Amino acid sequence: MSLDTAPGCRDAPVLKERGQHEVFCGLTSIIWLHRKMQDAFFLVVGSRTCAHLLQSAAGVMIFAEPRFGTAILEETDLAGMADAHDELDREVAKLLARRPDIRQLFLVGSCPSEVIKLDLARAAERLTKVHAPHVRVLNYSGSGIETTFTQGEDTCLAAMVPVLPEADPADLVVVGALPDVVEDQLLGLIRDLGIENVRALPARRADEDFGIGPATRFILAQPFLGETASALARRGAEHLPAPFPFGERGTTAWLRVLADEFGVSPERFDEVTAAPRARAQKAVAKARETLADRSIFFFPDSQLEIPLARFLTTECGMEAMEVGTPYLHRGLVGPDLDLLEAGQISEGQDVDRQLDRCRAAQPDLTVCGLGLANPLEREGLTTKWAIELVFTPVHGYEQAGDLAELFARPLRRREVLAL
Ligand code: SF4
Repeated sequence: MSLDTAPGCRDAPVLKERGQHEVFCGLTSIIWLHRKMQDAFFLVVGSRTCAHLLQSAAGVMIFAEPRFGTAILEETDLAGMADAHDELDREVAKLLARRPDIRQLFLVGSCPSEVIKLDLARAAERLTKVHAPHVRVLNYSGSGIETTFTQGEDTCLAAMVPVLPEADPADLVVVGALPDVVEDQLLGLIRDLGIENVRALPARRADEDFGIGPATRFILAQPFLGETASALARRGAEHLPAPFPFGERGTTAWLRVLADEFGVSPERFDEVTAAPRARAQKAVAKARETLADRSIFFFPDSQLEIPLARFLTTECGMEAMEVGTPYLHRGLVGPDLDLLEAGQISEGQDVDRQLDRCRAAQPDLTVCGLGLANPLEREGLTTKWAIELVFTPVHGYEQAGDLAELFARPLRRREVLAL
């Protein structure tokens, strides 16, 4: 099937469900955001549960100087018997006195801070006045009431947009926290196309800020950044919708949108992309031997589901039985929907009903959260943890083979076990 002529799912009926769903909260995104922003500190204003979540999610890492922590709300705070704002100010002052390397401080809201309506926006404003210009204090919500785990990145980046300057606007901004090596590869390709003034959001350090304005165009590298896209549009920047850069074809289509927008000649485009395209095709072909003609079922989790299903069906020969996503943002994933053929697209979740559909479908591979994977494996289904797809470098040409391998590996393991 060709990328350009596939019938697509843009107008296909969507099954909308509003029942119980099983996903991590937005605090989880701190695990990859703190690696990306090297002078940032994430201070979760939450309970001991939030602290445990962060510690266990980051459990394998040992930090000499950790860059996230939890300001624990005690019972007296929750009962309104203490002034949580005063305590927060004291904790922040102690932290910043001890850690002069911190240039950006994020106050991250949680379920408890939201339930007691602790106004972190006001706290961030007040603390910015105290600690500027050395430290910028921002706030966003990572609460499980409001956010799924990838939405934590969206609310964080959306909070950063209003403080970006107006002067010296970038021509192009690539939006989404990618591992440094992947960001370097993609920005390198874009510069080789001749688009020089390109920047990444988030920048690695606060002093690498750049301007945003009506002359700026932006392209998303992650499909879960709807709020950030709206915040950039409010600053006058123009969104360039594109398929997401997964696999050889996805990456080529993503770059082609940029090439068309910035008037790059077809010759230059081919010259820049030919070698990495060939490498990516070769790497994907190896995993395709395992994946072709196998069926896949996505539970809604990371919001990467639509672009990943597009990659697996059009580049790896898989059949998508159901593609579930927590939210279907057609303005962001529309170009991937145009290229996707799937038995069913579903939005939101009613986990019991979806489990019934999955059991009835008996897919070769099921992509789901940690909580569902073990029971489904016990029932004989082969699973892939959705969260791994967020923690692993998977974007761009050089990672296309690794991305396909992530799906091929559980199928091979199951075959070996069956011998
Ligand atoms: S923010 Fe809410 S869902 Fe997340 S760890 Fe804290 S209490 Fe749990």
